Amino acid sequence: SSFDDLELHEWIRENIKKSGYDRPTPVQKYSIPTLNGRRDLMSCAQTGSGKTAAFLVPVINQILKSGPGAVRKAELQSNGRSCQFPLALVISPTRELSLQIYNESRKFAYRTPVASALLYGGRENYRDQINKLRLGVHILIATPGRLIDVIQQGYIALDECRFLVLDEADRMLDMGFEPQIRQIVELNNMPVKGDRVTAMFSATFPKEIQMLAQDFLMPDYVFLA
Ligand code: AMP
Repeated sequence: SSFDDLELHEWIRENIKKSGYDRPTPVQKYSIPTLNGRRDLMSCAQTGSGKTAAFLVPVINQILKSGPGAVRKAELQSNGRSCQFPLALVISPTRELSLQIYNESRKFAYRTPVASALLYGGRENYRDQINKLRLGVHILIATPGRLIDVIQQGYIALDECRFLVLDEADRMLDMGFEPQIRQIVELNNMPVKGDRVTAMFSATFPKEIQMLAQDFLMPDYVFLA
């Protein structure tokens, strides 16, 4: 099988070729059509399986097909802050993983109007991250704590977020992020399940991840072992 069988937008097909990816890995082969078909996904994919492209490719593809210009314009808040409405949110446990996802995203969205932005913790880079949001953001890649902070500051609102990805969900729970993740997904104007497409990636599938999947995914979600 090849990426040409996956009915992808021409621009992303070209960028995949430029990345030197000849054929989809197994997780990509199954997750790309699932998410393009707007079905929710629970994937037990390990690092190194190609899971990053498995969610980024369909997300960028869908944004290109629906027209990235359709994004809701940034709104000026009463406090003078400009609030952005990302179309896709990727939550990841660490700064390192977020940076990797961001770099892949830029690669696949190269020379397209699809813009990615990155948010992670650490005091020194707060201003920089906020300033970059103003360039516009279709795909937001973030660690949980910093994301909540930026939402509460009024720089990001999740009302238009039609794609939600939880990467390395088991690791996020091990790090104690469950309350933050639930706050982001359940309390912040995020479209409810069914009105968004949700993909969860986790190396393991313990009880806690099963419960999260039950809460965040549509009952007919696709399970990829
Ligand atoms: P990931 O599991 O997403 O961290 O990807 C692991 C590594 O495999 C990364 O260096 C990717 O750039 C690479 N990779 C992902 N998908 C493919 C593919 N279809 N063909 C070749 N390399 C890939």
